[in-house]
Amino acid sequence: MNPGFTGSPLDRADRVRNDAEAYGALLADWRARILGLDGLDPLVASEGGLLWHSIAELTGSEELILLGLSDGKPHFVPLVEADGGMFRSPAIWRALTMLPAEDAAIYGTARSLIEWHNGHRFCGKCGHLTEMFRAGWGRKCGNCGKEHFPRTDPVVIMLAEYEGKALVGRQTRFPPGNYSALAGFLEPGESIEEAVRREIHEEAGVTCGAVRYVTSQPWPFGGAQLMIACVADAQDDAITLDTDELEDAMWVTKDEARAALANEEGRRFNAPPPFAIAHSLLKHWVSA
Ligand SMILES: [Zn+2]
Repeated sequence: MNPGFTGSPLDRADRVRNDAEAYGALLADWRARILGLDGLDPLVASEGGLLWHSIAELTGSEELILLGLSDGKPHFVPLVEADGGMFRSPAIWRALTMLPAEDAAIYGTARSLIEWHNGHRFCGKCGHLTEMFRAGWGRKCGNCGKEHFPRTDPVVIMLAEYEGKALVGRQTRFPPGNYSALAGFLEPGESIEEAVRREIHEEAGVTCGAVRYVTSQPWPFGGAQLMIACVADAQDDAITLDTDELEDAMWVTKDEARAALANEEGRRFNAPPPFAIAHSLLKHWVSA
């Protein structure tokens, strides 16, 4: 299975973003579909997919972001003023367990773009108001002309491995019994490998050597992040916990991880949900 929030079926259609005529034609296309949102949460249709409105249901005052094309049909999301915060609402958790993977990928793109627009209404260079351009894939300052483009923050998420066991941890905000891979933002001036080793050492006091890349996933909560999943070779298994970051950390065997992924009765811990890359990473590790 592919990591969550990947596999969008939409053609991003970069070619029309700067083409006023082509973009105007998409805005006037009666077949256009408009993503239904409740704040920043997705609306789920009765059959379990995303709910789309027709362009006729718009008031005309909405600013639209072009998500892409499917069978030539434009798909837009209206720019709403909403702050999603770092974490998920219960409504979105429920929606994500229902949405097909392709729909979750479309939704993740939309949410990340909306949050980026809301955080870039003013120019970072001169402080003047900015305006949307490039079909919603940028903002331009009305004063100094600086162009701003949506960014993605890289995050490393990793398992340290030692003698057939992997290190998992839990934060106090996790549901009871849940453990996940350790994670943290890359800092300026760091490689992926360096960030992996630093985060594991900061959070759990474990020193690691070689780092192997496994897979990646866009993550649309708390802005736009790119989760880079890795496995790191630990040099010992003594844990020194940073209790500001983690409530607990432990070494688990492949059998224990398999039981968690399968939700088996009597499992030692609960695994992250399938749409989280930590789930994909654990799955990769138990089968490696
Ligand atoms: Zn400016």
